[in-house]
Order: sequence, then C-alpha cells, then structure tokens
Amino acid sequence: MKAHDGIYIDGAWRPAAGQDVIDVVNPADEQVIGAVPAGTALDVDTAVRAARAALPGWAATPPAERAARLAALRDVLVARKDEIAETVTAELGSPLPFSQAVHAAVPIAVAGSYAELAASYVFEEKVGNSTVHQEPVGVVGAITPWNYPLHQVVAKVAPALAAGCTVVLKPAEDTPLVAQLFAEAVHEAGVPAGVFNLVTGLGPVAGQALAEHPGVDLVSFTGSTAVGRQIGAIAGAAIKKVALELGGKSANVILPSADLARAVNVGVANVMSNSGQTCSAWTRMLVHRDRYDEAVALAAAAADKYADRIGPLVNARQQQRVRGYIEQGVAEGARLVAGGPEAPRERGYWVSPTVFADVTPDMTIAQEEIFGPVLSILRYEDEEDALRIANGTVYGLAGAVWAAEEAEAVAFARRMETGQVDINGGRFNPLAPFGGYKQSGVGRELGAHGLAEYLQTKSLQF
Ligand code: NAD
Repeated sequence: MKAHDGIYIDGAWRPAAGQDVIDVVNPADEQVIGAVPAGTALDVDTAVRAARAALPGWAATPPAERAARLAALRDVLVARKDEIAETVTAELGSPLPFSQAVHAAVPIAVAGSYAELAASYVFEEKVGNSTVHQEPVGVVGAITPWNYPLHQVVAKVAPALAAGCTVVLKPAEDTPLVAQLFAEAVHEAGVPAGVFNLVTGLGPVAGQALAEHPGVDLVSFTGSTAVGRQIGAIAGAAIKKVALELGGKSANVILPSADLARAVNVGVANVMSNSGQTCSAWTRMLVHRDRYDEAVALAAAAADKYADRIGPLVNARQQQRVRGYIEQGVAEGARLVAGGPEAPRERGYWVSPTVFADVTPDMTIAQEEIFGPVLSILRYEDEEDALRIANGTVYGLAGAVWAAEEAEAVAFARRMETGQVDINGGRFNPLAPFGGYKQSGVGRELGAHGLAEYLQTKSLQF
C-alpha cells in the first residue's frame, strides 16, 4: 500500500496544482501511514474538463463493451482483494477479517452486479408510437465517506460507468488510499482515459468545488445530513440532479412472538459491526415491555463479547463525538448496561461497545445518529406504540422486524417509513435498492434502481 503523490486525471497520475497534503492516520495506533495531495478547485476543474471530454465517446460505447470493462474491473479487484483489505484496515482501523469479508468482498460483488446489469439492462423500449431511450445523465461528481470506503465508491462509480456517464470522485479525507487503489484498478481494467478521475482533498475545498462545478450534471453524495443539505441546496440552485445518501436511526422491532435471543443477538451484532459506523445500523432496539428485562440482559451480555472484536473509530473527532453522546445519554437518564464513555485504550480512537436501557423516544440518543458502537433499547406497550416509536425520527434508511410468522413481520414492515427492512434476519442483497425515506436521503443505490439514477429518458415519436 503506497500512497500516490498525484491525482488521477485523464488516465494518468499528475501533480496537484498546490503543495498541500493530507496525512493518512491509522486509527488503531495514531501512526501516520501516508499522505495524499489536498486537491483544490483548480484540480477539480481539470478533472471535470477531462470527464466532459471523455463523455461523448463513453456514452456512445455499446453497453456490452462497458459491461466488459466493468467485468475487467471486478477481476482486478478480485486479484487485489488482500491488498484492498489491508489498506482499509490500515486507514479505517477495521479488523482484517471484517475488511476481507465486507470492505473487499462487497464492492467486488457490486462491481460484478453492474458488469451483468450493463449487459442486460433495457436501455430502449417501445411505448405506443414512441421509442424511449435511456441516456447517460452526463458527468457525475461523486463525494464519498470513509465508513465503507471502497463500497461507497463502487456503489456510485460502477452504475455511473454502466450507464455511460463519466465520473470525478472526491473520496473522504480519512480513507484516500483505497480510493487510489481503486483508480489503479480502473486503469488496469482498460477503462478509457478521462472516464474516471480521482481528486483527493478536503470536503469544504475539493468537495464543494466539485458540487458547484457547472460541468457536473449530477452530484451523488453519501455522508452527513448537514453536508447533504448544503449539497442539495447547491444542486437545487443550479438545477442539477442530485442523489443523497445520508444518516439513519434505524429501528430493530422485536415483536412479542419473536425468537428473542436470536433477534437480540443479531441486533447487537448489527450495531457493533464496523464499530457502529454504518448508516443503516439498527441503533434502536424496540422490545415489548413483558420481555424487556430479558432483552436488556441478553444485549448487555452480547455487547461485552465485542470488546475485543471491534476496531477503533475512524478519527479523534468521531471518538469525541461518540463519547459525547454516551455522556449525554447518561445525563438524560438512560441506564448504561454495557460499556461507557471512558476510552478503553490510551492510543488509538477506541470506544467500548455500549448499551443503554430505559431509553425513551424523546432522548437525544434515541433521535440522533451517533455513528459508534452504541445501542439504545426502548420499551413499547403494544404494536401501535412500537410503530409510532419506529417511525418517530427524521430518518428512514433501514430497519428490521422479528416475529414468529413471516407474514406478521411483513405486515409491520409495510407500515414502517423506511427504505429497507430485514425480515427475521434477512441477508444483505447487493441487488436490492438502498436509500432513504424522509431525511435519510434522495434516490437509491445498488441494482437496477441504482443504475436508473444515472440515466435520463428521451422519447422519439414516429
Ligand atoms: P461528512 O459529511 O463531512 O463527509 C462525507 C464526505 O463529504 C467526505 O468526502 C467529505 O470530504 C465531504 N464533504 C465535507 N464537507 C463538504 C462540503 N462542504 N462540500 C462537499 N463535500 C464535503 O461526514 P463526516 O464529518 O466524515 O462524518 C460526520 C457524521 O456524518 C458521522 O458521525 C455520521 O453521523 C455521518 N456519516 C454518515 C455516513 C453515511 O454513510 N450516511 C457516512 C459518514 C458519515
């Protein structure tokens, strides 16, 4: 894992316009492991020009050829999967087995899914006396976060390329190394120069310049609601298309008939995964009052087992933020049954797996996205109460429902204001549309729905 000292534009690594760099830090031990250029508006402009110049050629490339490039990209990612996992572990801090199983394997699956979709997608249909063509939206500005650093990149770049769009990517400042590795993979896969461009840099500098650039037709952003709101406003003012994948506060609803131990254990695992840095994490567990005490005991025992299994948080700011939320939970009267605000190690940005009981829906820890290994367990009286609590936040990204009968869980899930619900522990599906109701975002990623985001329609009448 060697950091490039350039940015990848028009098929080559070139020096950035300025001298500034961003240090990359290993969050497990606070060691600096590399540095990448802090690109500026000038670099973004060069990259967008390259993407615009490459657009007509790539948009006119037959879908089968775009599919072949994506299949080649998937193959390079497969060949370099160990390097991907090691890179993510070094810059994000996640344990190596998790990096292999998730941070490397999921983007490989998603890249593969778009190699297939590019080949099979219906880009043209007949409607009465019209032919309706699905055409690429144009130049995409992709701004990605650090929590699933390669997955978030692939979930934007692969469908954009499948659609015939060209891309400028501004990855998160904490995890630029795996983004550089991805640029190398795109190059190795034979994607033509200018179709994909990478500018590393700070969000308010390079990210903002990309969102504002008049040569960008669609901005696809994943990250915090605060920045998403700004990007939505910029795009709205310029009448640019925008896709926003923002925060969540998802509910794990355990109905009275459910297998309680299974629902609690899977629920705790879901929250602790990636040290809680998952936008779709089920951070609110909703349990019927008759089974509440039993659920709290099970969750506390389960959480303690994660103390040696989870990695640190990504940086000192996130560590402080999460510890602040834990202190606020205590101050607002919630009961700590596992973990707490104290940092478990001296070096690195560690936070203990933490579980709160006696959380009420109005508490800050039941409303705001914490983005750390912190679970809140709430008590409900009956199903209507559970539904009110589940739907009672500004977010609606994901969720879970557990019941003895699938039909009972499905009936409840259909009333939840959220984009995805896992029924009795249903598995992640890389083809299922992912995205938010309410303030969790605009648009969908993954599968055919994710591809459609990068297309616009033209009808010809005969
Ligand atoms: P962020 O929103 O600041 O960063 C996400 C991306 O946006 C990064 O690439 C960043 O450089 C860029 N960015 C920042 N400011 C920008 C601006 N003004 N214009 C354009 N781009 C800009 O997120 P963060 O500060 O890293 O994390 C803060 C919180 O955001 C977390 O605690 C969590 O609640 C939430 N978050 C959510 C997700 C998600 O998957 N939905 C991912 C990361 C963080």
